[in-house]
Amino acid sequence: MIRSKLPNVGTTIFTTMSQLAVQTGALNLSQGFPDFNGPQALLDAVGRHVAAGHNQYAPMTGLPALRQQVAAKVARLYGVQVDADHEVTITPGATEAIFCAIQAVIQAGDEVIVFDPCYDSYEPAVELAGGRCVHVQLSDGDFRIDWQAFSDALSPRTRMVILNSPHNPSGALITREDLDQLAQLIAERDIYLVSDEVYEHLIYDGVRHASVLAHEQLAARAFVISSFGKTYHVTGWKTGYVIAPPALSAELRKVHQYVNFCGVTPLQCALADFMAEHPEHVEQLPGFYQAKRDLFCDLLQGSRFTFTRTPGTYFQLVDYSQIRTDLNDVDMALWLTREHGVASIPVSVFYQRPIPEQRLLRLCFAKREETLRHAAEKLCAI
Ligand code: PMP
Ligand code: GLN
Repeated sequence: MIRSKLPNVGTTIFTTMSQLAVQTGALNLSQGFPDFNGPQALLDAVGRHVAAGHNQYAPMTGLPALRQQVAAKVARLYGVQVDADHEVTITPGATEAIFCAIQAVIQAGDEVIVFDPCYDSYEPAVELAGGRCVHVQLSDGDFRIDWQAFSDALSPRTRMVILNSPHNPSGALITREDLDQLAQLIAERDIYLVSDEVYEHLIYDGVRHASVLAHEQLAARAFVISSFGKTYHVTGWKTGYVIAPPALSAELRKVHQYVNFCGVTPLQCALADFMAEHPEHVEQLPGFYQAKRDLFCDLLQGSRFTFTRTPGTYFQLVDYSQIRTDLNDVDMALWLTREHGVASIPVSVFYQRPIPEQRLLRLCFAKREETLRHAAEKLCAI
């Protein structure tokens, strides 16, 4: 008998739903990824670097030119100076960055506060480090942090808080006032932060991202994590980065060098070139995705799903209580895929204690116009 280190972990909902979409031929609006290509110049740059022989190990901390581009971007967007050599680390995906940050500082018996609904990779990483997640529920409806509930969850064993804004699956945003609250509540405590900001450029309606990087007190104890996969429409490249103060970066790099050592060289070369040549890409991203959100939501007005337009991410939550109340969201997602040809993600799987009356599905709108129209047609026919 194997004594599992992760006895409660099965196959992720993303794998399950994407596989079901393939088996049934359904439109896949479940797992978050675009059904269109990244910018041609970025794709071409990979081929160029491969042909030029940039195919051996990258430096452990990441290609210097890419680290410098990341530092230039956060200076431009958030007005923050970070040291590309000692504070920026390139990782094979944000997932690896999150894992390494947790392993670097969490010890046996430590507690980590997470907010439900909570992205699926945090808790297994905490458990493998010997820690325990303490789940604080976001408000039902608008997915905001209840700071009283957070304060009640703090204990002498709390060693880390994991923030995620824009938030997966809800799209909710953390505000500057939220960050001030957090800073005040943990000021006298020995607590680190992981700030998962992989959707930092997917924020709509003119709202600006409140990055932890721009909050001096919090940034001093934070690992701020992002993903080139989301930003450049190349989720399969699994390339991300972490920004953290030098002492924290040094601890993270000790783990990263043995988990993976380094990211993929030609991809890092291509991203560095593209970021240097096209700084406008990130500034155009909110408009690009807002148009998709609005198209999709306008089309869904003709359905019996109800929703509030998402303020961030490329996910739209929809409530199906006017369609079927007899099915919980997991069964609803299965029924919708099998019977109506649209795959989605049920929201309850992101909760430690799901809300019994909640009837929400997550739909990914990072899709071509024709896919969105086709999906909306099916959803409107229910
Ligand atoms: N955090 C969140 C909230 C995500 O949605 C994702 C998406 N996959 C990740 C982390 C992981 O990003 P990556 O694919 O770069 O590992
Ligand atoms: N982050 C992606 C999502 O939320 C899934 C990534 C994965 O499959 N691990 O859909």
